[in-house]
Amino acid sequence: MTVIETFDPATGKPLTTHPVMDDAAIEAAVVEVADAALSWANVPVAQRSSLLLRVADTLEAQREALAALMTSEMGKPLREARGEVDKSATTARWYAENLDRLLAPQQVDVGGAANAWVTREPVGPVLAVMPWNFPLWQVMRFVLPALGAGNTVLLKHSPNVTGSALAIESLLLDAGVPQGVLRVLVVDEARVPEVTERLIDDPRIAGVTLTGSNRAGAAVGAAAGRAVKPSVLELGGSDAFVVLADADVAAAAEAAVRARFHNSGQSCVCAKRFVVAAEVADAFLDRFLLGVAKLRVGDPTDEAVDVGPMARDDLRTAIQRQVDESVAAGARLVAGGAAVEGEGWFFEPTVLTVDGPGVPVFDEETFGPVAAVVVATDDDDAARLAGATAYGLGLSVWSASTERAVALAAKVTTGAVFINSVVASDVRVPFGGTKQSGYGRELSAEGMYAFMNQRTYWAA
Ligand code: NAP
Repeated sequence: MTVIETFDPATGKPLTTHPVMDDAAIEAAVVEVADAALSWANVPVAQRSSLLLRVADTLEAQREALAALMTSEMGKPLREARGEVDKSATTARWYAENLDRLLAPQQVDVGGAANAWVTREPVGPVLAVMPWNFPLWQVMRFVLPALGAGNTVLLKHSPNVTGSALAIESLLLDAGVPQGVLRVLVVDEARVPEVTERLIDDPRIAGVTLTGSNRAGAAVGAAAGRAVKPSVLELGGSDAFVVLADADVAAAAEAAVRARFHNSGQSCVCAKRFVVAAEVADAFLDRFLLGVAKLRVGDPTDEAVDVGPMARDDLRTAIQRQVDESVAAGARLVAGGAAVEGEGWFFEPTVLTVDGPGVPVFDEETFGPVAAVVVATDDDDAARLAGATAYGLGLSVWSASTERAVALAAKVTTGAVFINSVVASDVRVPFGGTKQSGYGRELSAEGMYAFMNQRTYWAA
């Protein structure tokens, strides 16, 4: 029987194996989510809302076990894994508390002759293709509004976090969510493109959301286009962290360390390129390097550790290539630069200074603990450098003047701008990207409406 084998990134040793599902098991899961969609859509909103509250409670009750599982499967520091559980619980509560408002029919004034209103109705089962970097949060930020909307979910997670995927399925059942409202597909890695394309084309599946790389997003988006189904793509990022000449350099440098090395650098909204005004460049770099030197790298279950291993050995090889090729092309290595010797897939926190585009650490997404720092001559030059990327996810701007930061942001397209703050997702505001970072939005009302039929009624 074909199995998926998972590994502990901190040791490189095998954890466990999971049997993959054959076509009959996949078909049974599709039947289950399609059947469940019919009844779940008709569960009263108040009841779906109380189930979301129970999901929040269950997340909190299972916090330690979920956090430990995520850390063992993909190596994130345990305290960050706990944070991921807490954030998922907060998000479940927000949707529970706002569900009535979000789903209330909206009256529209069309003049005296007619009565018009808009309702929001579930679309049915949605396929969710998810990445490993936030094994719980990435899934929950889609699943919670989908369940609130009355949709059901087929979850295809990354193979290295199959245990986390199955734990999410059990957690929802423990919370009282009916069987079949979410089903996990454990798919043979070699068959993923074929199986997902077939599911997207299946008339019982209403839409697809994917969080992951551009390669996967392009394949899934094309399949959704062919099938004429709604899709949301949350893809890669190469966010700029811009420090203007009037910024609080100490605060910016301290935040920059968190912005780059959170989740061992493996987040789509990690700041990856640091664009610093010439006037403060030396002061920023000195403080940034001091902060980087203090980062404790090691066993992610150790409460004192800041940076764990990378999730897979091939990802470590990929980031080493980006560093080596950048140095060969003229980038200057000022911290780290190599894999940590010994067991596990650790990589040294690394900083390079660069002159701008033309090196992989500036031109490509760096999905690991590697920062590129570039000096800007003035605000226009900073905007030019920040925007010199194929991506458009987040932008962080540091300045004493909000107007000045907003003026810079207006010259760069991204899905979010954070001023004097690190880019992060929050259920109260939409999350998503522009350019190669994808399309559509998650979280807030927009995330829920992405997979709902907004239906116009007009009564004469
Ligand atoms: P990935 O290799 O694209 O995998 C993501 C998911 O897509 C996995 O479940 C994967 O399954 C599946 N997949 C891969 N190729 C596919 C195909 N041709 N058809 C259908 N499904 C396919 O990405 P990753 O390495 O796990 O995650 C890292 C990437 O995700 C980074 O680029 C990061 O920036 C991005 N990301 C974006 C956001 C955001 O919100 N914008 C958030 C987190 C991560 P298999 O692994 O089984 O092939």
